[in-house]
Amino acid sequence: MHAYIKTPFYRNSKYIPHLLEHCVNSRGNLNSNDFFSYVYQSDADTFSWYTHFSFSDKISIEVFISWLQKDLDAGLIEYEKQILKDELKDVNFAQELFEKIWKRLHWIDFNNNHISRVSTIEIVDYHKKYYKSAEIIICDDSFNIISPTKKFTEAAALNDNTSPSIIKVRGESMRVFIRTYASWKDYYFMLFIQELLKSFQEYTERHKKWVYYFDNRVFLFRTEKYSILSFPEYFECNISIEFFDSFKTYFLTRILSWYWKKWIPINLTLLNQYAKMSEVIDFCNGFKFEESLSFLWND
Ligand SMILES: [Zn+2]
Repeated sequence: MHAYIKTPFYRNSKYIPHLLEHCVNSRGNLNSNDFFSYVYQSDADTFSWYTHFSFSDKISIEVFISWLQKDLDAGLIEYEKQILKDELKDVNFAQELFEKIWKRLHWIDFNNNHISRVSTIEIVDYHKKYYKSAEIIICDDSFNIISPTKKFTEAAALNDNTSPSIIKVRGESMRVFIRTYASWKDYYFMLFIQELLKSFQEYTERHKKWVYYFDNRVFLFRTEKYSILSFPEYFECNISIEFFDSFKTYFLTRILSWYWKKWIPINLTLLNQYAKMSEVIDFCNGFKFEESLSFLWND
């Protein structure tokens, strides 16, 4: 089972959403037997703008939601703050890039480690505001939505307002494309381009040219308003129509795979838009070579 909760940044920081993820996942109240039912299949992660929990179907949805909503203990908050301090020590390349993009977008620093001035009251208020039953999206292991059964809004059309720029991180020049994210369509389009570039980079550099290949530098970030694609400036997008077509066939198969189904509840969490799998397939099937890649070539 999975639970998704919309958890916006607080004061340009992911700190409170992340701290809450730790606090609500504390299980000191359980006896050892129940503790192991909980541990089985349990996982939690905080991403930009949403938090994800997975839990065993041995635990009822009502019980799991009541755990998420349980009053926070001030001592527990202080304890988890210390753990977060250690967790947030290392900033990776992607985080550094995201911080720079955030600054470019909002003219203000984004700070993962924004800790000291957050009061217990702010944390408790944030918890009450975003961990409401009607806002918690629950789905089964195949990512079919179980609750809530509220009315979702219609998807908007795909946006075409992509603005490119260059941002330097650790000496590397990164091309950055920012697109307003108003519809699940914007997200699938950017996901398609990201996966296409990743596959192309891997195919040409690793398999064909044997260039030293450590990690893929093609990133897709997302906030409530934007989806942001970034890849190295040196990287040439001279993708052929054959490669594009083979990739598209692969992408349409992958999108039906277990792991990728999760984008449906995630888009629901972020945008309150529900897309059926068949709608997603139809939409992605319509991607055309020149149309899809023109924004990469014209910057
Ligand atoms: Zn953590």
